[in-house]
Amino acid sequence: MNYKNPDENGYYGEFGGAFIPEMLYPNVEELQKSYLEIIESEDFQAEYQDLLKNYVGRATPLYFAKNLSQKYQTQIYLKREDLNHTGAHKINNALGQVLLAKRLGKTRIIAETGAGQHGVATATACALLGLKCIVYMGEIDIQRQAPNVARMKMLGAEVVPATSGSKTLKDAVNEALRDWINNPQTTHYVIGSVVGPHPFPDLVARFQSIISKEIKEQLKKKIGRENPDYVIACVGGGSNAAGTFYHFVEEKEVKIIAAEAGGLGVSSGKSAATTFLGTLGVLHGSKSLVMQTEDGQVIEPHSISAGLDYPGIGPFHAHLFKEKRAEFFSINDDEALKCAFELTRLEGIIPALESSHALAVLDKKKFNANDVVVICLSGRGDKDMETYLKNL
Ligand SMILES: *Cc1c(COP(=O)(O)O)cnc(C)c1O
Repeated sequence: MNYKNPDENGYYGEFGGAFIPEMLYPNVEELQKSYLEIIESEDFQAEYQDLLKNYVGRATPLYFAKNLSQKYQTQIYLKREDLNHTGAHKINNALGQVLLAKRLGKTRIIAETGAGQHGVATATACALLGLKCIVYMGEIDIQRQAPNVARMKMLGAEVVPATSGSKTLKDAVNEALRDWINNPQTTHYVIGSVVGPHPFPDLVARFQSIISKEIKEQLKKKIGRENPDYVIACVGGGSNAAGTFYHFVEEKEVKIIAAEAGGLGVSSGKSAATTFLGTLGVLHGSKSLVMQTEDGQVIEPHSISAGLDYPGIGPFHAHLFKEKRAEFFSINDDEALKCAFELTRLEGIIPALESSHALAVLDKKKFNANDVVVICLSGRGDKDMETYLKNL
């Protein structure tokens, strides 16, 4: 069983593919035909790896969390994606895609964003590499995420409000797709997670796979073996998790755990736990698990963390779930909050609310004293200070 790579049509088992309007065929086919050759070329890799090292600040540390390990009586290592430039893993993908767009001769970048993190990462890459950047964002999210809107504007991006539907992330995606249809020659659409039509899930997973590549090298140096007993990451669309799992999915002895946002509880009607609540459907161009009504209307998700507030999950993860290669936990808002405060007090690290969902797995599962447990700390908590202060 191949978990890592999709087949030539972009399928991971029964999930994936490219379900798009005919008007988008030229753009998507261009990408499908060229992405592997470009991103695997020596020339591309030289430029990309140089930026990851000298601009993003990679390799990020793999930190042995001594106090947290003592508390949970196991060996916990944190992969510090929070130390990346712009504060999360999203820059790994944004930089890679903007570099790819340049090689495709594009001059204009569009992106969607919910909380604004992906918008900031994309605007950053565009400022650095000199491309025009337009970010679609739900009108309600623009109000809720003022600091990130300000960052994007300062970076030179144009932030366009999506005013249809619920005026949130899925409406921003629809606006971005409409823009792409209208500007196929000049424009590349930088999707922010392992979602969307083939080849986006594979493209984004490959750019994020640097996370597990580094974990292997770092563990080898620290403990003399490349493989931990467990890897754990939170899943919104699933890009930090795909990066954390990528080089371990074919290694049978490594157990894989994904943490989804349970919101107020899986059966509360206010949740974003897609593997628990979702059914087979098509969302944003690919077939996967989707939170939807019986007649296929997307159900509004809820999570305390904006980055996990998504009604779907990437096809890579839907496949891991279906095949039971990964174990999924649903973490509620209050459980994530508790773990954010715990990490802060024990280790002096303020994590993003998203990442705190991954930490909360420590309360759900019993690990042995000598288990090596690697948790992806996908981002830093600066953006969540308002929520944290309210709950102090
Ligand atoms: C956006 C975000 C996530 C969720 O996105 P994935 O694609 O599932 O990784 C998780 N953590 C942080 C810090 C984020 O900004």
